[in-house]
Amino acid sequence: MIEDKNTPRTQISDLGEFGLIAHLTKNFKIKQPTTDFGIGDDAAVLDFKDKKCVVSTDLLIEGVHFDLAYMPLKHLGYKAVIVNLSDIYAMNALATQITISIAVSNRFPLEALEELYAGIHTAAKLYEIDVVGGDTTSSTTGLIISVTAVGYANKEELTYRSGAGEGDLLVVSGDLGAAYMGLQVLEREKQVFEVNPNAQPDLDQYTYLIERQLKPEARKDIPELLKSLGVNPTSMIDISDGLSSEVIHICKQSKVGVNLYEEKIPLDPTVISICEEFKLNSTTIALSGGEDYELLFTIKQEDYPKIKANPNLTVIGHITEEKNGIGLVTRANEKIELKAQGWNPLTP
Ligand code: ADP
Ligand code: MG
Repeated sequence: MIEDKNTPRTQISDLGEFGLIAHLTKNFKIKQPTTDFGIGDDAAVLDFKDKKCVVSTDLLIEGVHFDLAYMPLKHLGYKAVIVNLSDIYAMNALATQITISIAVSNRFPLEALEELYAGIHTAAKLYEIDVVGGDTTSSTTGLIISVTAVGYANKEELTYRSGAGEGDLLVVSGDLGAAYMGLQVLEREKQVFEVNPNAQPDLDQYTYLIERQLKPEARKDIPELLKSLGVNPTSMIDISDGLSSEVIHICKQSKVGVNLYEEKIPLDPTVISICEEFKLNSTTIALSGGEDYELLFTIKQEDYPKIKANPNLTVIGHITEEKNGIGLVTRANEKIELKAQGWNPLTP
């Protein structure tokens, strides 16, 4: 996209740093009552009154976390916001503000950054969060984006990874594995394109998978839903690295074990068929794929009637005592120990 000779290319240096910041942030309006002051001073001012404030940050590096060959900048901006909001929702909190920091090389014209910010703007609007600051600097190589998200919750509503107790039910929202398979499809198309640039990929049947990879959504609705059902989860985490890795986090930090049932893991039909096409095991993909941004949480058994009819939620296991271990009960009714094969950021 940025190589396209037909799109206008305005040098960032034409605007200068402050001109650039003003240009990129001109559409951001303050809407949240907890924002006292946003962009324009040395720091933003927030007021959460008697609430607990939650903060989370993420760093995205070109070539490590995203590939601009198939990730449009608008989607990248959107996704950078979403992955951070997901962490706030995983605390059972409401996300209210973000800051965005970018490092860009002169390889990027202004129009490319406008695209990036269009995606950020869309996400901010949809998720009703204020953009209250950031930082802008230059990079000698690729694009770097860091987003920090802020939110709040009542003290008793906050859900930590450490709160799961024996007998609790393990619940997941949505379905798993689609984002990872979307990436596999995109990588395959990229290789085809490198061999034959005139090949026109037919990606229609993969729409859901590609959307899950390029335009993921954060489960803002789940904390709201749980509140409306009168359910306070005992622990919660978002699924960024794959189900196994997140289940292990909850178990280790809560000092409990789990029986996770393979047959209960929610899979979209397109994930099942693409796994057959790629000759991959769909359970392995759901366990290790990552980037689904669904929420994984535990609830007290007595809350089961409140959630059981909800199509967004699936009970996939139950919490046991620690010495039972972290086990996957297979369709053949064999129990195997779960190991995290999730994406390891230090060995990309
Ligand atoms: P400072 O010199 O104190 O770092 P800056 O000139 O970098 O201040 O930033 C001025 C204002 O613009 C601040 O409110 C800052 O948070 C905001 N800002 C800077 N860069 C960005 C960006 N990329 N996106 C959003 N807001 C930004
Ligand atoms: Mg600055």
